[in-house]
Amino acid sequence: KISKISKDTLKMHNGKDNKETNYSTDQSHLHGQSVSILSFTSENKIIINEEVLKQTFDHPELQNRKVVVFSIIGAYRKGKSFFLDYCLRFLYAHYSSINYPKNSTLNSKKWMGDKNDPLTGFSWRSGSARDTTGIIIWNDVFLHTNEETDEKIAIVVIDTQGLFDNETTAMDNSRIFALGTLISSIQILNLSGVLQEDQLQYLQFATEFAKYAKIDNKLSEKPFQNLMFLIRDWAHADENEYGIQGGDEYLKQFLNTRSDQNKELKSVREFIHSSFDKIGCSLLPYPGDSVFGNKKKSKNANKYNGNWGEMDEDFKDELFSLIEYLLKPERLVLKKINGKDLKGSEFLKYVLQYFKLFQSDKLPKAQSIYESTVEKQMNILIELCINSYKETIHFNQEIIININEMDKCIKLLPLLHKMSKCQTLLMYNESKKMGSSEHEVKFKGILIDQIEKIYQEWEAQMKENMVKIDKERKKTQKALEEK
Ligand code: GDP
Ligand code: MG
Repeated sequence: KISKISKDTLKMHNGKDNKETNYSTDQSHLHGQSVSILSFTSENKIIINEEVLKQTFDHPELQNRKVVVFSIIGAYRKGKSFFLDYCLRFLYAHYSSINYPKNSTLNSKKWMGDKNDPLTGFSWRSGSARDTTGIIIWNDVFLHTNEETDEKIAIVVIDTQGLFDNETTAMDNSRIFALGTLISSIQILNLSGVLQEDQLQYLQFATEFAKYAKIDNKLSEKPFQNLMFLIRDWAHADENEYGIQGGDEYLKQFLNTRSDQNKELKSVREFIHSSFDKIGCSLLPYPGDSVFGNKKKSKNANKYNGNWGEMDEDFKDELFSLIEYLLKPERLVLKKINGKDLKGSEFLKYVLQYFKLFQSDKLPKAQSIYESTVEKQMNILIELCINSYKETIHFNQEIIININEMDKCIKLLPLLHKMSKCQTLLMYNESKKMGSSEHEVKFKGILIDQIEKIYQEWEAQMKENMVKIDKERKKTQKALEEK
């Protein structure tokens, strides 16, 4: 039975987002639609689809339910929507929804349906044309009642589009990322291949931005909830096996801070740990040539409809067990603010509050937060370089001082400086840096100025010391001669 509200939602939605509806061959069994709730205009202004939000979350069923917000984010065309669509299958088979009772024909073991079923739901593989950038919800919300505690919860599924593609600016990316992080309780960061240092730095910046915008944070609490790195096309199963366990081990290795580690790398890691309640990782294998769309190797690549019959066996198994792991009732994470669970109607207010904040000019420009994050990172790097410079000159000063002739010593100082400076700049050039090439030049200038200043002070000090030492030396020599 489809309630009135969702009929209206569907009516309103139909025709509005044709790209999505045309795409899927059969949406009829899904009882919902993907609807954009936030998008960007060509002038980078934010458009909020308040009507859809209200129609979805002001539903009487949701008013007193606590919410779980399951969201995915990451680069374009890396299988995010594809993954969510299998999640939707699981959700429809296991939970009832505001539009539909629980699907009793799919028992919990067969939630994935038939192996030839085309994949429907959020638009996936949308061809070469780029979908609008923004945040999309599945407008059918899933319902669950904990039989033991009688706690009633609602599960909201969110997809994002446009992150990290060529046409979306870094600033739009950070707004989508920050909003996604602010409104979700489980945030999946979808990545391809391996974790990379620059991805972590981007994560830090975007999270910093989200933190900045967060107006309701108690200092005693971590601002955000669960973050799950989902790494696709994992090619190192011999080192870390597929799935959650292998993923967690890999993440631990990657995020481990060691005492001998570069300070800059350490600070990114500490920041991420301090921002999320829980961090996890999962590794998925290469999905197979049909899914990947390899036209040379797979005859059907063009016609592939998303079914699981054509997936590589290990991918299918890992995909299904990951979804079962993530969406089991006991794993669901309730959206909390200041330690308090959020109910459906409160969630609506919360989302609107943040969307409007980002829409207004009240928030500092992502640009300025980006600048300050870059600055922070670069200052850490500069400090590191300066320390290394100081260490080299101090290490060598012993050798110099032990040379008997003062003139020789003094001549050696600039030479030592030159050598140490060279080494330090090499270190700076080879370190991973955040920001643009302009930042790189600017901070290199700052580093050189600081090094020169340190050298001048050190040189003056050394000369002074040497004069003293020379006097002492002469004195003892004279005493010796007199003896
Ligand atoms: P999105 O832009 O991140 O939402 O990506 P889509 O879900 O639209 O998928 C983009 C393309 O990637 C489709 O052709 C999918 O068949 C394919 N795809 C789905 N999962 C995977 C995966 O794990 N690895 C690879 N390489 N491709 C995938
Ligand atoms: Mg997508």
